[in-house]
Amino acid sequence: MSEQPTRRDVLGYAVRGTGVVALGGAAAFLATRAAAEGAWTIDPTKCINIRLGLTGVDACALCASECVVPLSAIRAVNDYAKCGRCCICPAYYDVTSEVGSDGLPMRKLCPRDAIERTAIGEVDPDDPLNNFYEYIIDEDKCNGCGDCVMACKEPAGLGSIKLEVRNDLCLDCNRCAIAQACPDDAILREVKETT
Ligand code: SF4
Ligand code: SF4
Ligand code: SF4
Repeated sequence: MSEQPTRRDVLGYAVRGTGVVALGGAAAFLATRAAAEGAWTIDPTKCINIRLGLTGVDACALCASECVVPLSAIRAVNDYAKCGRCCICPAYYDVTSEVGSDGLPMRKLCPRDAIERTAIGEVDPDDPLNNFYEYIIDEDKCNGCGDCVMACKEPAGLGSIKLEVRNDLCLDCNRCAIAQACPDDAILREVKETT
């Protein structure tokens, strides 16, 4: 009889990517944003940081640097329904950094320390590699630089982190400065719905 896998066996050091799940999320994202009337939005199939199939390159930071709002109106958002709650989340840890005595990378990825990591469920205090973790993005710190979004894509992650225009922060500029700068025309003005 085969042995039952432990949580560590199941999770490994990072989650396996599933393009189907991420594509479903992209479609759901678009549908949700389409309900907002006349708002600027990000097309996840165009944005360099979000779109699938592009990995191993530097994240595009224009959403962080080009917005007219001092702390950009763009934020990273984690879709918890898709998050693998990985032990070594590639969006949280700089997985290229040195590994410490606890088996975890010693550096974090986010340049603004905007991601909080908390062990959840039945916690094994003696082995951090044998736990699930929740990753929460602090929207007061995040500036939408995209580093975590790029790192969360398959094959390292599940693509649960996306960038989003926060309409409560956006000034709704007639000509969005980020849209002017975006190399992939990924910032779109949604068509006003008529009744
Ligand atoms: S400027 Fe365009 S490609 Fe760059 S992060 Fe923003 S939406 Fe993505
Ligand atoms: S988008 Fe940048 S600032 Fe925001 S949580 Fe991700 S890495 Fe940190
Ligand atoms: S419309 Fe203006 S405030 Fe909103 S994201 Fe674009 S540049 Fe920033």
